[in-house]
Amino acid sequence: MDYITCTPKRLPAEKLVAAAKTATTINPLNHAPLERLIRLMPGFAPTPEHIAVVTSKYWGLQGVKLTVGFMDNPEKALKQRLLLHMNAWAKTANVTFVETSTDPQVRVARTGGDNGGYWSYLGTDILHIPKGQQTMNLENFTMQMRESEFHRVVRHETGHTLGFPHEHLRKGLVAKLDVAKTIAYFERTQGWSEAEVRAQVLKPINEATLRGTADDAKSIMCYQLPGTITLDGKPIIGGLDIDATDYNFAALIYPKPKMSGPTPKTPANKTSAKKASKKTAKKVARRAIKR
Ligand SMILES: [Zn+2]
Repeated sequence: MDYITCTPKRLPAEKLVAAAKTATTINPLNHAPLERLIRLMPGFAPTPEHIAVVTSKYWGLQGVKLTVGFMDNPEKALKQRLLLHMNAWAKTANVTFVETSTDPQVRVARTGGDNGGYWSYLGTDILHIPKGQQTMNLENFTMQMRESEFHRVVRHETGHTLGFPHEHLRKGLVAKLDVAKTIAYFERTQGWSEAEVRAQVLKPINEATLRGTADDAKSIMCYQLPGTITLDGKPIIGGLDIDATDYNFAALIYPKPKMSGPTPKTPANKTSAKKASKKTAKKVARRAIKR
């Protein structure tokens, strides 16, 4: 069976600094934990470019309401099916994707060629894409595509639109990669240097030290890599669907408004709210570092 894999998509270098500003204006929690780095490394003076690459791109605790347009006007059934899977994240998170024909924020195309493949820009970065260009590409997606690929691919790309980056590869998966081919692949598709590929892809993180929770090797946001760069020629396809950990994380980043009436501001409530936002900030910071 042929599996589609996601090609990470990053803004061109000249847009990174402005996009980082947008990200922290929309959501102050996106701000990279530079104070800690400065404390750890006296004399460390980050440049705006350094700051930009460690800034995360989440939309903010108020939730996500994005309009969606389809650039090549696919059949109605396909539009509805794509929207259904984009909105799968709404199960636990305050997230809504609604179709519009005027000025859509999320623009879905199905082009091939140089800009083809399966990808989405990350979170608030989509605001920096010129109006005539897609923010998400789903090359070849039709109603004939297997249902499982709607779950695995559309929900994964939507995760990027929500600001979720790729999870680091687990040790076992890194061992499957052909190092030289992997470096060449990311140089070609991302313009990354060898050092960047080694840090981002080839260096597994010890997840036990980073996450207090169970290992999430099945996350929908796992890296997906083509069979052309693995030693056994098989692609690394990542998680098959949004899993429990993904749903919990999405709920933490985009909490749903409480259904009950206004909550009285008792000291107990204040403390737990404070705790929750601290917890969110910590998790956001972790993901930012991982990028
Ligand atoms: Zn991806």
